[in-house]
Amino acid sequence: MAVAHVNIALSGIEFQTQVPVSKKPVATRIMLPVVRAFTGAILNASEKMVRDMGRTASCKPACGACCRQLVPIALSETYEIRQVIEQMPEPRRSLILERFAQIVKTLQTNGMAEKLWEPGRRSEQEIDDVSGQYFSLQMACPFLEDESCSIYADRPIICREFLVTSDPEFCKNPTKETIRPLPIAARASAALMHLDDVPDKPYLQWIPLTLALEWAAKNPEPPPRPGTELLGRFLDCLGKEPESPVPPAMRAG
Ligand code: SF4
Repeated sequence: MAVAHVNIALSGIEFQTQVPVSKKPVATRIMLPVVRAFTGAILNASEKMVRDMGRTASCKPACGACCRQLVPIALSETYEIRQVIEQMPEPRRSLILERFAQIVKTLQTNGMAEKLWEPGRRSEQEIDDVSGQYFSLQMACPFLEDESCSIYADRPIICREFLVTSDPEFCKNPTKETIRPLPIAARASAALMHLDDVPDKPYLQWIPLTLALEWAAKNPEPPPRPGTELLGRFLDCLGKEPESPVPPAMRAG
């Protein structure tokens, strides 16, 4: 295990940190604790920047409005989600699996599952359209319980980045005009997606959270790579404002 000393300057925000990282080959999902730590640091700095401008994040506990959106996750996170579910006790495990299965069935019935398989191949307009259709179905994330996330510590990176400074009431029917997303200095979720880049597939690798189990079942986890290489690639992407499949209402205007 090595310790990486990282100095980052993003959108005028600077911070230093030290992170343990393996020199040995590891699966990308093993890097998730490090990516979560970076996400937390970026969000803290972004919230401070917004506070200095006289605004605050208005998200409140027990508000699950975002959890009915199409939630884009990295392919490496699909294997993490599968493991989180595998470790759940019964009957909770079966309940969550049943919720996933119901949503997959609805997506198939509505002709959306095919559009959302390898969605990085689709145009931004196609994804915007299917995102709108997805939200109109008001399907709660399988992990949403009493309007709160039941896997809070393990939730995907993009769930951590969905914060707004507008009135939370607008989130029930979000539009580009009414939603003011918290501007964040860098999207760790997108940098994580880029760790799954494939040479002969020149598009962003991601999948909706609700298709995670389908993806993980049909695609073996990619071979491990040295942790130091993964961290270097992640930081490189973080500094380059990588392409991100954020739903339309959550894009900064
Ligand atoms: S994982 Fe948690 S935070 Fe993310 S959409 Fe599901 S319930 Fe919401």
